[in-house]
Amino acid sequence: MLPSLSVPSGKVAAARPGIIEGTANNTVNPTHVYSVKEIYKTVQGEGWHTGRSAVFLRFAGCNLWSGREKDRADAICSFCDTDFLGTDGPGGGKFRSAADLAAQVRRVWEGALPPGANDCAQHAAFEGPFSVNAQVEQAAKPYVVCTGGEPLLQLDDALVAALHGEGFDVGVETNGTKAAPGELDWICVSPKAGAPVVLTRGHELKLVYHQKEALPNMFAHMDFEHFFLQPMDGPDRERFTEEARAWCARNPPWKLSLQTHKILGVP
Ligand code: SF4
Repeated sequence: MLPSLSVPSGKVAAARPGIIEGTANNTVNPTHVYSVKEIYKTVQGEGWHTGRSAVFLRFAGCNLWSGREKDRADAICSFCDTDFLGTDGPGGGKFRSAADLAAQVRRVWEGALPPGANDCAQHAAFEGPFSVNAQVEQAAKPYVVCTGGEPLLQLDDALVAALHGEGFDVGVETNGTKAAPGELDWICVSPKAGAPVVLTRGHELKLVYHQKEALPNMFAHMDFEHFFLQPMDGPDRERFTEEARAWCARNPPWKLSLQTHKILGVP
């Protein structure tokens, strides 16, 4: 496990109609029900962990958009490319305990692998002629990416502990407007224009480019190990890709992140 980070709490983004609201201190899920859009196995397509096998645990709901097209024009975040509305996706539903949800994540991880191919950690621990360093060992562990919607509206200490108990490294991809539980193995913050970032420390800051009011220099001072620019999908993707590439070339340590899962046509 990577060192855990203590992260600040802060103000909650402004409410919008139809949006699931969270609490400023989101270490507690008051209803003890987790609303999950879908759970599926794939490879991480973006950022530092690109290419790593992972289960994606997509929570329902976001604090920056209702998820309904009729609200998009008035939403704080208007370029979302994800369906996080409801609990009707593959593996989704309402889970009444952290243990139930973690067990479902484990089933998805195991179900997507051929029999006998699951125990990657044993391969990593093989005492052959090659030494296995810590990074290789980490990459061989089962990995779950908690995403959404906005996962920090629901992800709490109990669920992180339950996922650890099932053997997972636990990552989160968040818009950074909410405080995070402790003991996360990977924190990726993707700031959105007009939504103040309170989660200013983590492993990876991944900025979707271009957002007029969220430019790279506004985040470069924050305490992250890696900084990525990721071209916004849509009609201007080619232009944004070239501009992001040029920015990264001139401004290390920024690196270019491409949505390789879209290039591959996988979820
Ligand atoms: S913050 Fe993320 S999940 Fe929420 S609307 Fe924006 S892109 Fe979509």
